[in-house]
Amino acid sequence: MSSSGAQLIAQALHELGVRVIFGLVGIPVVQIAEEAIALGIRFIAFRNEQAASYAATAYGYLTGRPGVCLVVGGPGVLHAMAGIGNASANAFPLLILAGSSETHLVTKGAFQEMDAISLLSPHTKIAVRSSLDSIPQTITNAYRTSWYGRGGTGFVDLPADVIQGEGDHISTRIVPAAPRAAADPAKVKVIAGLLRSAKAPLVVVGKGASYAQAESSIRKLINQTKIPFLPTPMGKGVLPDSHSSNTASARSTALKGADVVIVLGARLNWILHFGEEPKWNANAKIIQVDISAEELGKNNGNAELAVIGDINVVTEQLLAALQGWQYDTSSAYVQALKASTVKNEATAAKSAKVDKIPMTYGRTFDVIKQTLHKLSPPEDGGIVYISEGANTMDISRSVFPVEHPRLRLDAGTYATMGVGLGYAIAAHCAYNLPSPEASSGPKSSHKKIVCLEGDSAFGFSLPEVETMARYGMDILIFVVNNGGVYHGDSSDSDAWLRLQQNSKQGVKGGLRSTSLGWEVGYEKVAEMCGGIGYLVRTPEELARATEEGYKATVPVVINIIIEAGQAKKLEFAWQNSSKKPKKEAKL
Ligand code: ADP
Repeated sequence: MSSSGAQLIAQALHELGVRVIFGLVGIPVVQIAEEAIALGIRFIAFRNEQAASYAATAYGYLTGRPGVCLVVGGPGVLHAMAGIGNASANAFPLLILAGSSETHLVTKGAFQEMDAISLLSPHTKIAVRSSLDSIPQTITNAYRTSWYGRGGTGFVDLPADVIQGEGDHISTRIVPAAPRAAADPAKVKVIAGLLRSAKAPLVVVGKGASYAQAESSIRKLINQTKIPFLPTPMGKGVLPDSHSSNTASARSTALKGADVVIVLGARLNWILHFGEEPKWNANAKIIQVDISAEELGKNNGNAELAVIGDINVVTEQLLAALQGWQYDTSSAYVQALKASTVKNEATAAKSAKVDKIPMTYGRTFDVIKQTLHKLSPPEDGGIVYISEGANTMDISRSVFPVEHPRLRLDAGTYATMGVGLGYAIAAHCAYNLPSPEASSGPKSSHKKIVCLEGDSAFGFSLPEVETMARYGMDILIFVVNNGGVYHGDSSDSDAWLRLQQNSKQGVKGGLRSTSLGWEVGYEKVAEMCGGIGYLVRTPEELARATEEGYKATVPVVINIIIEAGQAKKLEFAWQNSSKKPKKEAKL
């Protein structure tokens, strides 16, 4: 019996086990979405392809299988390119399906005509056009390619005549779980020897370990060997933040003092200061374990010692090679880590208590944390934190502990602002919709999705609050509102109005590039679509709104007016941390 192209596409996705599609429809891809819904696949319809493509990348990360995004051709593809860049930068698996104009109209200026394959080929792992006959094989191979090896994007261009044509159903070949490679045993032996004789060993745990769902073997490794570990921002939770070997509160000391470092699923990029001085010890042996051979030896990674392999397998190999050995935690390195931890945690505790209104970041996050922890203790793993915005992300990172993996997402490798609401929707789908992918990854019990958004970051995708409301997603969003990018530029409404006046009159000294609207009523975005909004200024109001918001069954936006306009120098602690190459340095 023949079926429409749209039916064949939906069937191929269904046979691949796809349970959720993120997207935004138009003609003709709407037919694919409708056929997918008819097969029981959930279609989450966004207000902008950008947010939909971000959501699909996060879904891929959380479930360990490609997230799927469906968009129209031309402008839809251009908007979804944001997700493609995000998937590549973060190494997340993503399958984008896009409509395109009829094949016989090529070059004639057809509706939304664009040569998407040429545009996307350099940015994807595979970019192909499907014919009517090749639908199952094209979609399967794009899905598999985006997933196997290092995650990235598979793109399938679906012309209107393919979507609307008629063809026969051919079953999709089963795509088993991604293959896992072991490390060269001789190298494992050498690495184990180096660890045994190290004075200051360190294990760095990245979001690749979290994506690989390698928590069980990594927990065994650290518990057995007592080697101190450092999570990257999204590697948090692979090991519990409360673990006694966690050096996160002594990050600088941990990096600077380490002599042998095993990097499990993290790149030596800006997040890890390239593995270079001055943040790292110049003589440290940095040993990467990565699924991607191209990554090994990059920047200050030691190419001779680095191993290619799956973290799950290599960690078990290391465990076996280190059997019976434990690092001596009375070492000078561990003592230095402890001293640094005590000092840094005391400073953080002080900033959490600063008692003034408008509130500071420290106080704001402390109130949210105390309230949420009463409702859902971190050990239960009942909350997923999504965090974006320069200060909001940076400061909140160390405030909210996570005890389980894949419970914290942020702007990631690309430092992409605007991912937050899409990520929150993805997390809601991954954790709270019953699906086979969810049962193989995160636990499927209902989790509260909590977004910590700077007012600037929130602005990138605020219409997606309506998406949340439409699907009844009980997502709790905090907008940490200081009236600007970074710190804004005004400390009170009179000053802001003066600057605005200057801007209007075109005179010097108008609003700065970092300035956003003064005390904008972001909470109303929730109210306009059936959610609940709160505007809060004091710790008491914030605590009450947090509790009510946590218990609500609709999306909630809590707009927190905090201290604004601190005219500090603009800087970002993660940057400017690497030495510049010397002029005579050779590659
Ligand atoms: P972070 O942002 O936490 O520093 P990155 O995204 O930079 O982490 O690095 C993640 C790394 O993990 C990538 O280089 C990726 O190739 C690697 N990776 C992903 N999955 C696996 C796996 N199963 N085994 C080994 N390495 C993996």
